[in-house]
Amino acid sequence: MGEVKGFIKYKKNDFNKQKVEDRINHWDEFTIPLVEEELRIQGARCMDCGIPFCQSGCPISNIIPDWNDLVYKGNWQEAYKRLKRTNNFPEFTGRVCPAPCENSCTLAINKDAVTIKNIEVSIIEKAFNEGWINSELPNVRSGKKIAIVGSGPAGLACADELNKNSHSVTVFEKNEFIGGLLTLGIPNFKLDKKIVQRRVELMKSEGVEFKTNVEIGKDILLSELLDKFDAIVLAGGAEKPRDLPIEGRNLNGIYYAMEYLTQQNRTNMGQTFNGNRITAKDKNVVVIGGGDTGSDCIGTAIRQGAKSVMNLELLAQPPAERSEDNPWPQWALIERKSTSHEEGCDRIYSVMTKKFTGENGNVKKLHAIKLQFGEKDPRTGRKPMSEIIGSDFTLDADLVLLAMGFTGPVKNKLISELDIDLDERSNVKTDENRMTNIPGIFAAGDMRRGQSLVVWAINEGRTTAQHVHKYISV
Ligand SMILES: Cc1cc2nc3c(=O)[nH]c(=O)nc-3n(C[C@H](O)[C@H](O)[C@H](O)COP(=O)(O)OP(=O)(O)OC[C@H]3O[C@@H](n4cnc5c(N)ncnc54)[C@H](O)[C@@H]3O)c2cc1C
Ligand code: SF4
Repeated sequence: MGEVKGFIKYKKNDFNKQKVEDRINHWDEFTIPLVEEELRIQGARCMDCGIPFCQSGCPISNIIPDWNDLVYKGNWQEAYKRLKRTNNFPEFTGRVCPAPCENSCTLAINKDAVTIKNIEVSIIEKAFNEGWINSELPNVRSGKKIAIVGSGPAGLACADELNKNSHSVTVFEKNEFIGGLLTLGIPNFKLDKKIVQRRVELMKSEGVEFKTNVEIGKDILLSELLDKFDAIVLAGGAEKPRDLPIEGRNLNGIYYAMEYLTQQNRTNMGQTFNGNRITAKDKNVVVIGGGDTGSDCIGTAIRQGAKSVMNLELLAQPPAERSEDNPWPQWALIERKSTSHEEGCDRIYSVMTKKFTGENGNVKKLHAIKLQFGEKDPRTGRKPMSEIIGSDFTLDADLVLLAMGFTGPVKNKLISELDIDLDERSNVKTDENRMTNIPGIFAAGDMRRGQSLVVWAINEGRTTAQHVHKYISV
């Protein structure tokens, strides 16, 4: 794999980024790809480590050492063929995946991991640019019809796989845009919407039918779909946000992160909001929650011209290096600084928000207290937390964004009409064949797994597609 001593000879190099002061003035992606020769060198760092831990670290088991070697040898077209075997959408994961593969790379035991994610996106972008990706319309159709509810990465991956298996697939999407969180959640500066659109157009040309502005359970009942299709896949995501039901929650200026992020994505696509625009301009912004969603709120608020941005996290500050009970090749539980954090925000860990106060119905202050954590309980794996007496403090807050995660799918008529069973985490429950309690209705993605990652949604879509194929092929 790669060059035998490449990992000793060459240092890791990742994509460059535009300077912060330049990139915060626009909504476009800001990474600067490496030139081909440099990517070859990065591929050369992949060593013949015997067991490719990177591949087991990747939720879709991308055959990473193979494409690293092919890129090193300059055989990009073959690298693309190898990549598309396992990943329907490398252009999404190569941009937004947190790259657990790199955490599991054998080099990461004591050196910098191979630049896997950047090589992945470079392969797929080269394949598009060179014209190696063309519409592959199935020669014959099986005569079976499948409905997919939801057009996020899980629904799209499922549709792509089933279409390639020659079934006729229709994707129903309640929003006006296809792509789920890829389009309306993740900001344009992380994933340009033209990239999503390019894939959707390709899938359309391959025969997948998309119906937007159709909410299943409202515009069309699930039972009606069941009459018309041979199988249905529920891929509606985990859209119920976790709330913070404390004093002052009803003041103006406190929003769920998704209310805020979807508006900015829609604004970027030309929509206007007639005076109802949520903007951070000249405001003191507090983002509650330290995950991807919170980080996207930070980058968005900075681009909107916020006066200050503060990020609060309930949990304790993670260590800078792996702790002893978190060894390689596990996902490293360390502090991560996202590109949005780099753009200028303060972060406070171990904080509980107690109440909001305001003037004339608008939020003005956030009142919080610092927390301390005890020893880990071996049964739950959790550390008990308690408030530090006398550590209360207040922050100026004109805009508060709640980014504290999601608690599963919204429990609306999509779920209730046919009494779809839920699991103990209130996600859609399926059996080992990914089928719900209603024969012929399957589930995939965040709706089944709970809030997760794009790469897991692709895994879910692919796996559920295999079970649907088996079910309708008997
Ligand atoms: C702000 C934000 C940022 C994120 N950033 C990252 C990141 O950087 N990297 C990463 O890997 N992951 C990230 N994630 C997580 C990732 O986006 C999700 O795990 C992934 O999109 C889940 O895919 P999905 O297809 O299951 O659901 P979704 O992407 O949520 O798509 C579900 C779709 O179903 C539609 N739908 C729901 N109900 C119905 C209905 N009744 N009828 C018709 N349509 C319906 C919805 O409108 C939506 O379009 C982020 C999540 C958020 C919220
Ligand atoms: S999909 Fe994610 S985990 Fe898999 S190879 Fe790409 S960056 Fe790594």
